Amino acid sequence: MTDEQLAGTFAALYGYEPEGLWAAPGRVNLIGEHTDYNDGYVLPLALPHTARAAVSRRDDGVLRLHSGDVPGGVVELRADALEPGAPGLGWAAYPAGVVWALRDAGHPVTGLDLHLSSTVPVGAGLSSSAALEIVTALALNDLHGLGLRPWQLARLAQRAENVFVGMPCGIMDQTASACCTAGHALHLDTRDLTQRKVPFDLAADGLRLLVVDTRVQHALGDSAYAERRASCEEGAALLDVPALRDVAFGQLDEALSRLGDETLRRRVRHVVTENRRVEEVTARLGAGDTRGIGPLLTAGHASLRDDFEVSCPELDLAVESACAAGALGARMTGAGFGGSAIALVEEAAAEPVTKAVNAAFAAAGHREPRVFPAVPSAGARRLV
Ligand code: ADP
Ligand code: MG
Repeated sequence: MTDEQLAGTFAALYGYEPEGLWAAPGRVNLIGEHTDYNDGYVLPLALPHTARAAVSRRDDGVLRLHSGDVPGGVVELRADALEPGAPGLGWAAYPAGVVWALRDAGHPVTGLDLHLSSTVPVGAGLSSSAALEIVTALALNDLHGLGLRPWQLARLAQRAENVFVGMPCGIMDQTASACCTAGHALHLDTRDLTQRKVPFDLAADGLRLLVVDTRVQHALGDSAYAERRASCEEGAALLDVPALRDVAFGQLDEALSRLGDETLRRRVRHVVTENRRVEEVTARLGAGDTRGIGPLLTAGHASLRDDFEVSCPELDLAVESACAAGALGARMTGAGFGGSAIALVEEAAAEPVTKAVNAAFAAAGHREPRVFPAVPSAGARRLV
């Protein structure tokens, strides 16, 4: 859909031209999984896939929200009636939650007319929800002249998802959508929100990062996520540190020897070694050794599969078949139990690896996956 079509649909819905158009991307996380609620490090990059929105401000307290991607018409709400946890809003909870979070933080946001359309695959672990939140937050920031920085918009959007929508996600997705830059991954310290742009120019290196969207989402996901978070908190408490981020890699063996429970030991080991892998991947990319990150990606997958136990047969097969067909490294990305994997491949290997993954899924009787390249792209921006 072109910018003109986006604006045209807005005009057809609401009877006037939008004040502007904005875009916010989905993301993949290169490495650093289940570290963001342990005050640790993550290394996401923005996808070329974006949520785009045509938006105008309203000063009468009314929100009119429309997505061209879902059935149902315009959702109309009142800003002063927005309440966290109100059921039945469906997709509209994401943009409405952003309005609620801005107002709850004291910003004079009154209402809006919004029409959106997104190319971010939904529910694939690629943050279609954060893209929706950030495109709304950026539009309101511009239209109301709020002067909030991208990382502040990310914080507000996270609060919208945590409190208004009721999903206890970390800060990575929203920060990636708001703050990433083309040709880079974003190193984020989730404790103090310090950001570093890490060069990740795949094309210049003759490489591709393939995303394998397994198109499955196992029901276990939500309860397991809460259970893993609780384990991490328990581990930190037993080790007497504020968060598992504070367990140094060099002290891991000693720390593990102080934990009686074998499962808890493995959970802690994943988080501590994963933080270390983020730092190693970042160092290699900084040194121009992009190929050298391959084994670290694969080691990260093994840790998520064996120690953190959040993989699933489809993700394991994506990683194994990609590596067997010549990928330099591969791992599941996102919270697990479905969603997507990534594979780093030589440009010439992109096609054979894609074919091998498809063949392996067919042979195993799994649904056909969607495989596409992740080009490190720009974060949220105003289009018009
Ligand atoms: P992910 O963020 O990994 O894609 P989530 O479950 O966090 O998965 O978010 C998916 C939800 O976001 C969808 O169920 C829907 O409510 C909302 N959503 C995402 N994209 C769109 C869209 N284009 N139109 C309407 N709702 C959307
Ligand atoms: Mg999401």
